[in-house]
Amino acid sequence: MTENRYLCFLSDIGKEKFMNQGGESPCPFCNRGALSDILDEAYPLVLLKNKYATFANTQQTVLIETDDCAADMAVYEPVHMQKIITFGTDHWLAMEQSGEYKSVAFFKNHGPLSGGSIGHAHMQIVGLKDIDYKRNLNADMFDGIEIVRKGNCVLNISTRPNACATEFNVITAPRNDRFMAHHVQNLVRYVLDRCSSFNLFFYQWNESIICKIVPRYVTSPFLIGFNIPQTSSRLHQIAEEVKRMID
Ligand SMILES: [Zn+2]
Repeated sequence: MTENRYLCFLSDIGKEKFMNQGGESPCPFCNRGALSDILDEAYPLVLLKNKYATFANTQQTVLIETDDCAADMAVYEPVHMQKIITFGTDHWLAMEQSGEYKSVAFFKNHGPLSGGSIGHAHMQIVGLKDIDYKRNLNADMFDGIEIVRKGNCVLNISTRPNACATEFNVITAPRNDRFMAHHVQNLVRYVLDRCSSFNLFFYQWNESIICKIVPRYVTSPFLIGFNIPQTSSRLHQIAEEVKRMID
């Protein structure tokens, strides 16, 4: 398949999703007996095909993180957090290695400004048949003020963020699920004390597995209209706050 730059939103499926999930509809991830197209399970984790595959030329899957509709990543036991990271990363990398996709996106939406439509905690693994997300990456995105280092594993705050003023990066080289789970959860707690919404984005980049934690606010018009990203005058202060929280 030829290379593409755009995800094509399938309006009819989007409409159907809206009709079935709007209003007072019960949570579809709580009704476990009714789930279909399950790809793998490790209680309470479930990986299944997304019922509403709203983008063309993709394989959209959903990873349900918990059977507690009110829980979120900030409150999980450490062992559960690590189980999610390992289960998700294993499936993400297996899809990458299947050769069926140009690239595979692994990410999480949380909260009203994150782009998510279901409150029940979940992540997504999406195989992109004609888009290589790595073409849009550059090393600058992961540079930052170091907050924690253990060998080649680093937690930092971006000095040259991709889109939002405060982006945190957890970089493991080689893959280290324990470091990843611990620090992603720390950052989620830090972020959710200050705003309602965040995204996690996972990348394979130069032998590293990286997670970018992005607090979400209303998107800046400078970014949308002029492609001008922002940074913050408080980066050093935020780095200190996070370091204090972790110690
Ligand atoms: Zn639920």
